[in-house]
Amino acid sequence: MSNLLELKNVSKVYQRGLINSKANVALRDISLTLREDEPTILTVAGESGSGKTTLAMLLLGFITPTTGEIIYRGQNITTLHGKDRLAYRREVQAVFQDPFAVFNPFYTVDHLLTVPIKRFKLASTKAEARNRMEEALSAVGLRPEDILGRFPHQLSGGQRQRINVARALLLKPRLLIADEPVSMVDASLRANILETLRNLQRDHGVSIIYITHDLTTAYHIAKSIIVLYRGGVMEAGDVDAVIKDPQHPYTKLLVDSIPWPNLDQRWGETPIIAREDGGPDGGCPFRTRCPNAMDICTTRPPLYQTSPMQAAACYLHDKKPEIVAQRLTELLPV
Ligand code: ADP
Ligand code: MG
Repeated sequence: MSNLLELKNVSKVYQRGLINSKANVALRDISLTLREDEPTILTVAGESGSGKTTLAMLLLGFITPTTGEIIYRGQNITTLHGKDRLAYRREVQAVFQDPFAVFNPFYTVDHLLTVPIKRFKLASTKAEARNRMEEALSAVGLRPEDILGRFPHQLSGGQRQRINVARALLLKPRLLIADEPVSMVDASLRANILETLRNLQRDHGVSIIYITHDLTTAYHIAKSIIVLYRGGVMEAGDVDAVIKDPQHPYTKLLVDSIPWPNLDQRWGETPIIAREDGGPDGGCPFRTRCPNAMDICTTRPPLYQTSPMQAAACYLHDKKPEIVAQRLTELLPV
């Protein structure tokens, strides 16, 4: 059984200036695997500054890891050339937070959709290109006749974000990286877009990495979840298990702050815990704020498997079996 995507001990360190170069570890030792034969939706959740967008940029090949490797269908993405690189560019697509950002206000929506068709030579005639566009728009629940020929300002935020999804879908991707795709969309349309993403996974076999600061939407869309704090995995597992019975003090804190079960309410807009607040470099990054902190927490905790489909990086579970980071995703349901 082959893997679609593998992250092997990936870290990303940003240098803050040349002279007084203080390293900022945006991601620390992240390993995860998505299987090729089983499309899934994996949530990566964390507050602002936890490294989510850095992860998205790495997966898209926009930045390179400081250490570790990202393997796409058996090949390190930094060494991809020619046809393989083009295939990767087509097969891994993104939808970002701002539904307006990719639109040029002077062009109709058609333009946004035609560019990828041309670039990746997805159609040989105008009629075929039009068919492709209509297909993709219909797949995200839009009526092509309502959309084509319009300018961006004539569309709602929700429509625009679904067009972004349609644009990604045009390329028949295998993997979609959705970085906070609904956080700038009206609450009333949020569930709708999440449903669209779920259909992509179910009906079109697209794996999705759904990145969010919002556990409520994660709960509604994903099978499994990885919770990040300051670039490190605090907890991971089946989304139901993690949210209903969190094992890491940090996840507990997050879950307690969710206004259940209302999807329309927002969670985590303002960080509960300020990122800059006494960040220990070694040890558990959460220890300075942790109600359960112990002496041993100055040493970074490994992941412990707390139940069949759940693991937490916390010494509260040190009687449980350790699990090496590379094997973490084996616990996750697909
Ligand atoms: P999130 O998307 O979870 O809010 P980011 O990945 O954007 O988190 O940021 C993680 C950390 O990396 C933050 O501390 C942020 O300030 C830092 N960071 C992100 N991008 C850069 C960059 N280009 N240069 C330096 N630091 C960065
Ligand atoms: Mg971000």
